[in-house]
Amino acid sequence: MKKLKLILIWILSTVCAAIIAYIVWGYIDSRGGLYNLLIHTQDLLLILLNLTTPLWATIALTAICCLYTYLKIRQYQNSYKPPAIQEELLEEFGVYWNNQYKLRCLKCKWPLKCSSDKKDPSLFFCSNCNLKHSIRDKNGKHLTESQAIEQLKKLPTNHSS
Ligand SMILES: [Zn+2]
Repeated sequence: MKKLKLILIWILSTVCAAIIAYIVWGYIDSRGGLYNLLIHTQDLLLILLNLTTPLWATIALTAICCLYTYLKIRQYQNSYKPPAIQEELLEEFGVYWNNQYKLRCLKCKWPLKCSSDKKDPSLFFCSNCNLKHSIRDKNGKHLTESQAIEQLKKLPTNHSS
């Protein structure tokens, strides 16, 4: 699951950061502790410059990992906003529609996402309950999202679910 993967990446990058912090701290400690270093700021700069290249690479990699995780989590939060609680939904073509013609899951009312399957543009999936939905008209004919919206607009407005 996507959620689990994100959590794993987060844990890994946190562990990496902790290990690096431990190594750097050990290095500083071997030079007489942070207090001594703060007195001799020049020494601190020297130590930072003298760190071995692999360590710098690890630090850079961890920073990139953290940034990546942060961006992923932000993207995740932005794209999986639950629908408004009092959203009025219309059941049509095998899915729910809100008043802005956005697709909602028939089971949990979560926003539906476009399936990665390019061959079937009528296929959508719910990222909350993992259900797949395909938009079909009354005759079972597959519809794309825009075709369905066009047909929805033609429906009488007093139509209620
Ligand atoms: Zn759902």
